Amino acid sequence: MVNMNTHTFVSNISGTSNPYYADSNSKTESSWIKTYKEKTGSSRTMCSALECGANASHGAHVRDNDNRKSQSWAIIPTCASHNHPSNTDPYHLKGDVIMMEVNINNRV
Ligand SMILES: [Zn+2]
Repeated sequence: MVNMNTHTFVSNISGTSNPYYADSNSKTESSWIKTYKEKTGSSRTMCSALECGANASHGAHVRDNDNRKSQSWAIIPTCASHNHPSNTDPYHLKGDVIMMEVNINNRV
């Protein structure tokens, strides 16, 4: 059974595509995926969301929903729909996803 103990369970952080974040370091969703790959060395091409087979074209800002862990923000590769602001449902991740932590000022 898939649960918080077996798979990381995350929520999208809303508002990270607004100008504050874009202007703070000139990053967009598509440049986040580039930074992610550079920093983590990951060659992931498929969305991090469990059972999603779509292309990982975006770097999504997420928060781990497990209160036993740090609540810091992270970037993960996702498809456009999993990164979409309207997607407010938390979702589980595939087992091998590397999370790239970012701080509250959205810096790597
Ligand atoms: Zn997806």
